[in-house]
Amino acid sequence: MQPLNSFFKYVKAGLGFIKKHPDILYSLVLIILVPLVLYFNVNFAVNSFQKNFDTALKQKAFIVEEIFDSFLSDYSDNIAAAGAKIEKLVKENPELAYLEIKLKQGDGFSRVIAYPAEGGKTSEEGQKSLETAELLSWQNNEAVGFLSAEKNARRWNVLKPLHSKNGDKIGLIRMALSLEAVDALLDRTIKISYVFVVLGVFLVLALIINHTRLFEYSVLFRKLQEVDRIKDEFVSMTAHELRTPVSIIKGYSRQLEEKLADKMTPDQKKDLGIIISSSDNLNELITDILEVSRIEQGRIAFDLQKISPEKTIEETIDSLKPKADEKGLSLSFASHPSPLLITADPDRLRQILTNLIANAIKYTFKGKIGVSAGADKNKCRISIQDTGIGMSAETQKRLFEKFYRIKNKETENISGTGLGLWITKALCEKLDGQISVESIEGVGSKFTITFPLLKP
Ligand code: ADP
Repeated sequence: MQPLNSFFKYVKAGLGFIKKHPDILYSLVLIILVPLVLYFNVNFAVNSFQKNFDTALKQKAFIVEEIFDSFLSDYSDNIAAAGAKIEKLVKENPELAYLEIKLKQGDGFSRVIAYPAEGGKTSEEGQKSLETAELLSWQNNEAVGFLSAEKNARRWNVLKPLHSKNGDKIGLIRMALSLEAVDALLDRTIKISYVFVVLGVFLVLALIINHTRLFEYSVLFRKLQEVDRIKDEFVSMTAHELRTPVSIIKGYSRQLEEKLADKMTPDQKKDLGIIISSSDNLNELITDILEVSRIEQGRIAFDLQKISPEKTIEETIDSLKPKADEKGLSLSFASHPSPLLITADPDRLRQILTNLIANAIKYTFKGKIGVSAGADKNKCRISIQDTGIGMSAETQKRLFEKFYRIKNKETENISGTGLGLWITKALCEKLDGQISVESIEGVGSKFTITFPLLKP
């Protein structure tokens, strides 16, 4: 009872697994069907080959007997005289297993030639077929053939009446063509074919195992996607929830700074300054996280219009000029001689430009920032070039990764989220554009964005 119980337990577990992962059925069906198809294919091919070969050999046997008949008619007076020739013929043709000539004598036949002497012996079943064939052949005056199996070697036995010179029936020619060589060849072919079937089955099994592994990966992938979705939802919800308290902290601390400006000691002013800048940083992080989650979930709507980017560039420069002035940096714009036309969402283009120009201001300590717009073949190119800290070739490779910030002495006191360039790149791509960077450490950087140019 115990083994039966565990058997049912395994069957139940197996069925449960299939129910949970119905895709596995596909593998199971393949495991059963493919070997079956291969096996039947080999069997069918071998059987048809054998049948065709047998038929061809039977035809051959009839023809050979026809030849014997006409050859022996010359010896009809003294058949025994052809004995030596027949012996020679049989010896030289290994396929010719036996040849016998009987002459009609009264009600029966008398054997005149039989070569090899014992070659005519046949099984009990073969003997019955032989007698029937003899009768039919003699009575109908035609060639009759039948297959017999002798000690594992098959034979085509053919009987045909023997005629005298003037066409009278005088006896019977019996001939046996051996199928031994053909059968050996077929046997070899079958064996080789089965080796290929087994190889094929192994290959299919390997494929199925691989498929099952891929199937496991796809299940894992779906789970990961689900986890990723939950994580995105969680991050987005948390960021939303944080936004209000952070705005309140920001608002009240600025109010405090204004109201108590004259009453605070320098230390208190410094502490309040830290609260304000930290809440600004936190607010920036929350805004960026929400933006990333909106982009990843495809929740950003683009109001695409045919616009001239110069206007948006000028507006952005105007809004960031005070920041540049604060650091003593010159911020200029060199426009293209003729107006450029692109398809873009002006607000999103402003967001892209703000990120790049604000970064240029943030990472430049002295010198200038130049923005330029131009046309290259069918592309509109906008470049933001600074004389800032620049970056190494190594760091440039990871620049557009999420949360990537270059950490060195020059950047340690500069706050940021490491999300700005990721957002910028994603927005550019959504607008059918591209972003690239060229930079030399200690000399400066040049960020270039390109968009398809429209004909004016
Ligand atoms: P962050 O909020 O840190 O500025 P970004 O994604 O905008 O995040 O930029 C990623 C990093 O790339 C920055 O931390 C900075 O090290 C580097 N970077 C960006 N722009 C410039 C620039 N114009 N010059 C030098 N370094 C820059």
